[in-house]
Amino acid sequence: MKVVKFGGSSLASGAQVEKVYHIVVSDPERKIVVVSAPGKRYPEDIKVTDLLISCAKKYLKGENAQDLVRTIVSRYQSIAEELYLSNAIIAKITDDLLTLLSGDKSNPASFIEAVKASGEDNNAKLIAAFFKHKGLNAEYVSPKEAGLLVSNDPGNARVLPESYKRLAKLKNKSGIIVFPGFFGYSTNGDVVTFSRSGSDITGSILANGVQADLYENFTDVDAVYAVNPHIVRHPKEIRELTYREMRELSYGGFSVFHDEALIPAIRAGIPVNVKNTNNPEAPGTKIVNTRKNKNGPVVGIASDEGFCSIYVSKFLMNREIGFGRKILLILEEFGLSFEHIPSGIDDLTVILRENQMDEKTEKSIIERIYTDLDADEVRIEHGLALIMIVGEGMRRNIGTAARASKALAEAHVNIEMINQGSSEVSMMFGVKEPVEKKAVQALYQEFFSEVLVQ
Ligand code: ASP
Repeated sequence: MKVVKFGGSSLASGAQVEKVYHIVVSDPERKIVVVSAPGKRYPEDIKVTDLLISCAKKYLKGENAQDLVRTIVSRYQSIAEELYLSNAIIAKITDDLLTLLSGDKSNPASFIEAVKASGEDNNAKLIAAFFKHKGLNAEYVSPKEAGLLVSNDPGNARVLPESYKRLAKLKNKSGIIVFPGFFGYSTNGDVVTFSRSGSDITGSILANGVQADLYENFTDVDAVYAVNPHIVRHPKEIRELTYREMRELSYGGFSVFHDEALIPAIRAGIPVNVKNTNNPEAPGTKIVNTRKNKNGPVVGIASDEGFCSIYVSKFLMNREIGFGRKILLILEEFGLSFEHIPSGIDDLTVILRENQMDEKTEKSIIERIYTDLDADEVRIEHGLALIMIVGEGMRRNIGTAARASKALAEAHVNIEMINQGSSEVSMMFGVKEPVEKKAVQALYQEFFSEVLVQ
């Protein structure tokens, strides 16, 4: 049995939903279909989820949101019209949305959650109606009915372990199940959403629950590429990746597949196949537990900008017990999460996402580190990009670091930081943001032949 998930761009119009239908019926193993809310039809378009969030916020402020409600309903309406569905489904969606919007607002976070999740919920109902209209034995199943219980962290829910046993019962249903992605229910019965793009997580949880043979994740690209196609033209497609490689690449800025979504599938040893709704014949990219290493040491290169570093130096730091703990404690007090901590004998650098910092926080942190730790020097640097080269093959290959740094040197890129310590499957380079693209192109050229750089 296969669990199949379709992302927002695969469901953005009637024509796209037709493709989804053909994909589902072309393989009798495709029994559980997880759907996102309608996404973007063209680059400047707005996702239904974003429209819903704006709408909920307006309602909370008591502002007029009639235009937004109309825009949201019209997104479903145009899909339904293209699919020749009766108006009953749109009447129901409109009714559901208006009931939600006029509902209890005493807990604003809960109110936003419920409105936000209705994007997938209503889409699942619409798609189930379309499948039935085409003569399929299909039904909408709600996360509540199926027992998808999650923690009560709005916008960042985690699945509760007891869900899996309940979800296993979905196997006993006949016909095709259409299941809304992106949210579950807290033990109090409230809607709680996963982080953005969280329908991937729902699909993975269901695949684990029913012990599927495969989790197919349909999106709008033929494969996971070895590098961002906006940086290198026509990059190599990756046919097979391990979970660890995918995790490192998603962390480094690959957004094809939600990194959190890997966990339930990994735990159940279920392979994930990323495929293209617009080209379902293409083999896509398989994410598996182990793979035969047929290529070189590097399988992909990812990069992301928006990092900063806090550099702390103190003579004889290496002998001082609790130095690192004290720095981390200060960061914790400021509610900051850190990404990496490369360290030397007398110095240590903490890398963080820049968007968590403002001028005031920065000043206070510097002061605190000087006073609490009696540091010799504390400095914050901005505009850092992190580049990860990723591949299981790196463990066995000699000279990967040398090749990478030589490629960067030849491209006249100054390496601000290298981190290869803990991960066996990745190597990270910190460079200044303006040279990020050049650095990635140089690394791609080094590890993948026949490059067409932009
Ligand atoms: N619709 C939600 C979002 O835009 C979830 C998803 O598409 O996976 O984040």
